[in-house]
Amino acid sequence: MSYQKYADIIIDISHENLDKTYQYTIPKEFFASAIIGALVVVPFGRGSRKINGYIVGLSNEPKIDIDRIKPIDHVVEDAPVIESHLIYLAHWIKETFGGTMNDALKTVMPIKKAVKIKEKRRIVSIKPYEELSLLYEEQKRKNNAARIRILEALLKNSYLDYDDVTKKLKISKPTITWLETNDVIKIESKQIYRNPIEKQDISYTPVTLSDEQEHIVENILRDYNEGIRNTYLIHGVTGSGKTEVYMEVISAVVASGKQVIVLIPEIALTYQTVNRFYSRFGDRISILNSRMSDGERYDQGLRAKNGEIDIMIGPRSALFTPFQNLGLIIIDEEHEGSYKSEATPKYHAIEVAKTRAKLTGAFVILGSATPSMESYYSATKGEYKLFHLSKRAKEASQPKIWVVDLREELRQKNRSIFSRKLKELIEDRLNKQEQIMLFINRRGYAGFVSCRSCGYVIKCSRCDVSMTSHVQGGYSRGKLLCHYCGSQEPMPNTCPVCGSKYIAAFGTGTQKIEEMVKREFPKARVLRMDADTTKNKGDHQKILSAFAHHKADILVGTQMIVKGHDFPLVTLVGIVAADLSLYAGDFRAGERTFQLLSQAAGRAGRDRIPGEVVIQTYNPEHYSIVTAAEGDYQSFYEQEMLYRSLMQYPPASHIMVILITAREEDLADKAIDHAGLVLKDYINTKQLSSKIIGPAPAGLAKVKDTYRRVIYIKEANYNYLVELKNYFEGYFNYSIQFAGCSLQVDFNPMSTY
Ligand code: ADP
Ligand code: ZN
Ligand code: ZN
Repeated sequence: MSYQKYADIIIDISHENLDKTYQYTIPKEFFASAIIGALVVVPFGRGSRKINGYIVGLSNEPKIDIDRIKPIDHVVEDAPVIESHLIYLAHWIKETFGGTMNDALKTVMPIKKAVKIKEKRRIVSIKPYEELSLLYEEQKRKNNAARIRILEALLKNSYLDYDDVTKKLKISKPTITWLETNDVIKIESKQIYRNPIEKQDISYTPVTLSDEQEHIVENILRDYNEGIRNTYLIHGVTGSGKTEVYMEVISAVVASGKQVIVLIPEIALTYQTVNRFYSRFGDRISILNSRMSDGERYDQGLRAKNGEIDIMIGPRSALFTPFQNLGLIIIDEEHEGSYKSEATPKYHAIEVAKTRAKLTGAFVILGSATPSMESYYSATKGEYKLFHLSKRAKEASQPKIWVVDLREELRQKNRSIFSRKLKELIEDRLNKQEQIMLFINRRGYAGFVSCRSCGYVIKCSRCDVSMTSHVQGGYSRGKLLCHYCGSQEPMPNTCPVCGSKYIAAFGTGTQKIEEMVKREFPKARVLRMDADTTKNKGDHQKILSAFAHHKADILVGTQMIVKGHDFPLVTLVGIVAADLSLYAGDFRAGERTFQLLSQAAGRAGRDRIPGEVVIQTYNPEHYSIVTAAEGDYQSFYEQEMLYRSLMQYPPASHIMVILITAREEDLADKAIDHAGLVLKDYINTKQLSSKIIGPAPAGLAKVKDTYRRVIYIKEANYNYLVELKNYFEGYFNYSIQFAGCSLQVDFNPMSTY
């Protein structure tokens, strides 16, 4: 084996200026350990300060004058090594989503430090049974109590737990040493990985797949066995049997000697979900979640690497599980926003999964009841193979859905936040001792302005998203602002359409609803679940478990109550203000509303008791609401796609966000204006048809004394945007105009900035 003499190293500092590799010589003693992905310590800079770095390349050619190449100080022993394909993946992530190579490496290898591994020791008898019993008799004659105790135990069991021997049998160290030196026993030590899954005694009951399920499994496995690697999208309502399909495919992939990653949003990674996988695959599965310590997470990575498990289940970060022979990546609830990283690099798990799969010869399955516009669009273009599961696996009646027009309530002089229909049904359920969930979809809520008489919502004429009122503090007083282009308008006193004076910033909170419920239904027992009531670890579980045990009649909450929980006694779901998510001021508002309403509807009446859903809105004719009430995904997709195409929003086009932040407002303003000019110049020179929107203050214009300014760029060709990003990042790092500013880049953002 011949070793290479030079290593290319990425220095462990998150700073764009250092985002390149440096060459070092490899001293002989590290030839074997200095492999790609290894963590090393190197002298860096003028003072040769010792600093960490990763080896990303090896060669025998010096790139600069040999005298100027410094040697590696040492290779860090026992540090996890990054797989070489993960280094490639990191590079791809950096290129595709922005940020530094160092950020990207940290993403693919989240736990940097090796954590001490627990060891378990045991005492093993190495003498044949007869000799052991002779020795036992001899010690009995000598009346040596300690030796008698341990020999007696060894006659019964050929090995003993070391701790049991010292603690329970009370055998001292000299006795053990005596046995060891006389070749009676040897001490073995074994690494014990923390296993996050408690062992269960649940048996697996196989199901017979339906024809629809069977069809999907057959198709996917036929491709797999023929060596065809595709991406598959399974569109099936909750309870239609997607998970059974996943498990069937997983079991074939594992049987072929490969490993599987299953991504599930953290909020849906419940005890029941894990148990289902455990009952089928036993100890060959492991999980990752944010509640685990670094040590536990590290152990799970090692178990994967050492081939002790075949299946890793977890949220976004589980994507980087260091399996040696990855065969399949499944992304359940693929429409979930949490699959997009909020920290730089702002990568999307689906794109990364497809790239990792391509690098390793694996394939990808996406599943959802409400596929994202992006995924469904890819499927219609033939990039993904699309499958449908049209029926629920277990017979459950579909809930009855009422869409209530709140404008009509106002006309009938009902000013309460509960419509007459919702009130009537709440009373009915309270009488029958059934349970109720009341929910407001607050996510993305940004204070839009609407007319309670006619439902008119003020929108930006250029961007076709609702404008946001900025009443107190912030960037502008009493004004309406578009989060994309920065357009401003004064807040009107009367509705521009019907002249009504009931035009105002829309607002309601879970706390207000809780108060109203207590006032209107004084006998009802009410629980509230939102960000305020779930600040501490375990709060979440406490509230859900109290509700599950019928300690309350009504659960009031934000969208966190809608996901992944089954409450068989819930027969009424009320969506108090569907408009909150509908006018969130970003282009995904309609899609998010459709998803949330569909999910909420799925919560009502999941057992034998049929359920009812009341959707309260000022815009009952909006297609997101109409199609969600009818459970018609296809029709929603078509109408939403019209809007996206018309406005050049993803997936019809791509959007890149340039976010510049600075501690001084003036600096931020100047920097973003300059950025606008630089970008415009580049686009003109290259004769691109990209559109620049802004510059504008971000929706969150000031966070923690930092001013935030944005530019959005629409461009149909993603590669052009990547080139533009590379150009701009380079310019930003070396131009004096941006001194004191930070830059963040985001492609196809999940929400406004
Ligand atoms: P999804 O993942 O689409 O929500 P699941 O796979 O969890 O659906 O299925 C919902 C329920 O129906 C589960 O309890 C599951 O065990 C059951 N189920 C799914 N497929 C079948 C089948 N073919 N026969 C019987 N029960 C099934
Ligand atoms: Zn009006
Ligand atoms: Zn606008």
